[in-house]
Amino acid sequence: MSALTFENALKGSTAYKFFLSDLRSGLGHAYAVMTGDDDVADEFFTLIATTVYCQNGSACMSCAECRKVLHSNHPDVFHVNAARDKIKVDDVNKMLSSVYIKSLSGRKLYFIHRADMMNVQAQNKLLKTLEEPPAGVTVFLGVANESAMLDTIKSRVRAIHMDSFDEQTVYNAMLSRGYSEEKSAVAAACSEGMLGKADKIAASSQYSALYAFAIDALKRLNRSSDIVGLDADIASQENLNELLDVLSIIIRDMLVVQNSPDMILSKHIPSDITALADRYSPLALSKILGMIGDTRRQLALNVPALSAIDNLLFSILEVRHRCPKS
Ligand SMILES: [Zn+2]
Repeated sequence: MSALTFENALKGSTAYKFFLSDLRSGLGHAYAVMTGDDDVADEFFTLIATTVYCQNGSACMSCAECRKVLHSNHPDVFHVNAARDKIKVDDVNKMLSSVYIKSLSGRKLYFIHRADMMNVQAQNKLLKTLEEPPAGVTVFLGVANESAMLDTIKSRVRAIHMDSFDEQTVYNAMLSRGYSEEKSAVAAACSEGMLGKADKIAASSQYSALYAFAIDALKRLNRSSDIVGLDADIASQENLNELLDVLSIIIRDMLVVQNSPDMILSKHIPSDITALADRYSPLALSKILGMIGDTRRQLALNVPALSAIDNLLFSILEVRHRCPKS
């Protein structure tokens, strides 16, 4: 069992390779790790710190230095906003009070989790340090929402864009977490390349049920008489928006089956989806994707769920007839 949940995937990421090449040529003073996947950002920070301090030079996760990092008691590693809550100017002041104290190792690392939660005063305060950083100090900012960062900060940091992981990598990561092949496949399909999201999906029994429900609904939908009953089943779902997300993902995978059959294996698309894809043309599927978006907008405008879903199901059948498979 590795110390990090996503150790293998992260060690293979382009983001890590970018960091390693900078480390070899001389680490800069400030980096922004850009990712919407908070769990991955946290693990990436740990991987960075173990890489810098590891006695074996390999982020081995087992030497004394690596263990200190993993147990959050390394004297030269500082975390700000580890709880990913909010960052006020006081928090930055507290951080800055230690920045100029010399370290034993000669290098200190500061990790600001979700730095995009800093208010403007906090960012301006931090900016002074980024402008005149003390030697041996490197600050890493975890950024999920780039637009929340001041341009003056952005211009002082090197951006490291976290990979969007391909489905095979996510699938393997979930398998190594001990999830079943089926759960890993659903998580890989629905995670949009985000490992943290995939992990939450795989761990949630509700999500697998939602996925199975969406597949079953598509299987049941063949003629207009099928809509009676099915519409109410769907409309009464508690997480209707999440269900529509899952439906979009399934339709997109059906498009993959149509357009690039060689990707079926690497994407771990269930046979149910391959069979469903047989019923629709690629044109019909792309139109259905747009209709699901329309339904989402209708629900946001408080159109009653039953009539929005009714509308969607009729439109799906209609487009299936109007744009048949050639
Ligand atoms: Zn080590």
